[in-house]
Amino acid sequence: MNYIDAFRDPAVAKQFVRLIAEQGRALADQGRRVHIMEVCGSHTMAIGRYGIRELLPENVELISGPGCPVCVTDPGYIDAAIALAGKGAILATFGDMIRVPGSTSNLTQCRVSGGDVRVCYSPSAAIEIAQSHSDREIVFLAIGFETTIVPVVSIVDEAIRAGVRNVSLLTAFKLVPPALHALLADTEIKIDAYLCPAHVSAIIGSQAYEPFAADYHVPCVVAGFEPLDILYGVNGILAQMLKNEARVENQYARVVRRAGNPKAQARMAQYLEPVDAVWRGIGVIPSSGLGLRPEFAGYDAEKKFGMPVHIGQQHAGCRCGDVIKGKLRPIACPLFSSVCTPDNPIGPCMVSAEGTCAAYFKYALRDVQQGGET
Ligand code: SF4
Repeated sequence: MNYIDAFRDPAVAKQFVRLIAEQGRALADQGRRVHIMEVCGSHTMAIGRYGIRELLPENVELISGPGCPVCVTDPGYIDAAIALAGKGAILATFGDMIRVPGSTSNLTQCRVSGGDVRVCYSPSAAIEIAQSHSDREIVFLAIGFETTIVPVVSIVDEAIRAGVRNVSLLTAFKLVPPALHALLADTEIKIDAYLCPAHVSAIIGSQAYEPFAADYHVPCVVAGFEPLDILYGVNGILAQMLKNEARVENQYARVVRRAGNPKAQARMAQYLEPVDAVWRGIGVIPSSGLGLRPEFAGYDAEKKFGMPVHIGQQHAGCRCGDVIKGKLRPIACPLFSSVCTPDNPIGPCMVSAEGTCAAYFKYALRDVQQGGET
């Protein structure tokens, strides 16, 4: 059996499903219903792909969280990018962003209207474009969580070393822990435990979740993306809940350390500083983003062009905000699959490869029978 297959072994999966069923029954006997938020969009996709939701007891629910960087990007950010294209800048972006709705348009429509929007497969492509178009300004759409921030911010490092001045970042970097804190502080959202993200945790370390266990008595389990990782994670959460414990358990120790990746953290601190950030549907969360330090203002598109990003408007019928907060399953959105589909996305949650609505659209769901309110 190869390395990956070991994490997909059906016999082991059955054992975990049996253990989860036993623990779920024990919790049900105590009258307890368990809401586990899977924070990461990659977990959401894996849970759909492997049918994990369907394997859980009726009183154990997995609800999706704000773990897709495209989905949490505010429409105002897209508006700002379109405005920069209107000033003649070349926009360089990862592919998912080009169909994300702004307040009134998106980057695909911007391109049709003559905007120069280029899809990149690596951040350093922005430098290549800048070098081959020295008479133009290149703006890289710098979104992402802790996982992708370092490679993206390396554009600045590369530009400085290569003497390239015509490239800048339109930043909307987001930090996961402040968002998790904001969700726990919202008493309308039912979260009993966090299934913590894998890749983000490799950077920030499992210690980042310790305050949630200590202050909110919420078990936090860091898990990988394979089916056995997720089942093992759910099993660990239920075991803690049965013992009325709340602690951080790192079940992805083959990748994640308690302190995370100090080199990546130092790199972020070298170029970036905490800023308040707007999360689509959630609003402004203090110190939940990272912006370029003042000494790098020449590479900060907002400052370079004097065009600050403002909060935008999302489609009136789109419930992405509630989906991102785990308050609503996509199936309960009136537009889901009738008006809003991957071919005609109304909100970013249907656009992104890690979006919750896209995951629900793609994979069969027991939620279709169950309604949708969490
Ligand atoms: S189904 Fe579409 S419109 Fe509804 S919340 Fe999801 S993305 Fe928004």
